[in-house]
Amino acid sequence: MKIHGLKRHTVFTQFNSRCAYCGIKLNKKNFQTDHIISRKSYFSLLSTHYQTYYYKTRITFRDFDNVLNLFPSCGDCNRLKSDMSIEEFRCYITSFPSYQRGNSSIFRALLRFNIVTLNISPLVFYFETFPFNSLYGDVKS
Ligand SMILES: [Zn+2]
Repeated sequence: MKIHGLKRHTVFTQFNSRCAYCGIKLNKKNFQTDHIISRKSYFSLLSTHYQTYYYKTRITFRDFDNVLNLFPSCGDCNRLKSDMSIEEFRCYITSFPSYQRGNSSIFRALLRFNIVTLNISPLVFYFETFPFNSLYGDVKS
């Protein structure tokens, strides 16, 4: 579903007009809005009984398009993440070096000739560098 108007602007400016995942500067005209929790991943966690129940009564498409469930994203990150949760996306990306080393002779050559080097470190998404309060306002306990 396309996100328009003020909601789209709110999503765009959420992280200084940068992709929530990689932090690349976004273009206001063609950035993408990523659903943090996709309908597919949410419903896959529920039993069949509750899937039917929630589909019919509780969860509407509008809930998933709530601004709290939307992150600004570049096209590459949005396509890579697809229907994954944030933690699934993190695991997917961090598996790239070992996958490429095992499956790509070109990547192994780049390593052998020191054209690229591996510097494996924990993946911190750009949005994780923002303080919690700046995302959701002051949370009173
Ligand atoms: Zn990105």
